[in-house]
Amino acid sequence: MQIKIGWHGKHFGEEPPLVGDQNQGAGGIFFSKCNLHCVFCQNVQISQCGLGQDYSVEELANIMLGLQNQGAINIDLVTPTLWWKQIKEAVEIAKSQGLKIPVMWNSNAFEPKQLIRNMNGLVDIYVPDFKYGDDELGYKYSGIKNYSAAAQIAIKEMLWQVGKFKTDINGLGERGVVVRHLVLPNNIDNSLKVLDILAGIDIRLHISLMRQYYPLNDLTKYPELMRGVNNEEWNNVYQHLIDLGFENGWIQGEDSGAVMIPDFTKEKPFE
Ligand code: SF4
Repeated sequence: MQIKIGWHGKHFGEEPPLVGDQNQGAGGIFFSKCNLHCVFCQNVQISQCGLGQDYSVEELANIMLGLQNQGAINIDLVTPTLWWKQIKEAVEIAKSQGLKIPVMWNSNAFEPKQLIRNMNGLVDIYVPDFKYGDDELGYKYSGIKNYSAAAQIAIKEMLWQVGKFKTDINGLGERGVVVRHLVLPNNIDNSLKVLDILAGIDIRLHISLMRQYYPLNDLTKYPELMRGVNNEEWNNVYQHLIDLGFENGWIQGEDSGAVMIPDFTKEKPFE
């Protein structure tokens, strides 16, 4: 069975323990198409326009082994949800042929518990992006119902499988869960709710609070998304993170907007 990949190679756009130094990098495999259709998607070329090439499961396993040989510190499966069956098969083949580095599942968390359960024992690090505490917003921006409850169930399953995030003796991610959240302009209540929900799951979670939102695509129907997050909004969310008592994780700097947008029509989309 074929699998469509938008781009693969080493990349350095993840949290520090997930990329290592400049000679290491995450072993990125960006899959084409996505189970959500977010109006603000920053990877729209591959997630919604379907840019990419077809590969067999065996070829995908070889890509994983090749990334390991190039010094990548993990296999970073980006937007993997729709392709989980082929990915499972490819990881099994790659592991049988010497894949040793951690396998990372980098998704939007809108995934049935059983789908995540199927990856048990094959995935070492889960990096779910918890997008919405507010279900109405999930419907408005991503066209899905009941996002929040579904994502919470998925994240609890991930925690059950691999536990809290931990690094090896070199400070590189080895196992566990890192929960991301992208702050959206004019939607701060959603971010506060997301943090409240995550605090209820486990205050020791590693949280990655992202400020990289930058308006792309046709957003004429969503004028509130036509700018980046301002300092007041960001400080509100950050202060709530601190007030709740989260101590583990990362926050993005003020200048992380447009610079983080990849162009997948280029051979090196992140440069
Ligand atoms: S879940 Fe992520 S990759 Fe998929 S459409 Fe939304 S922003 Fe894009």
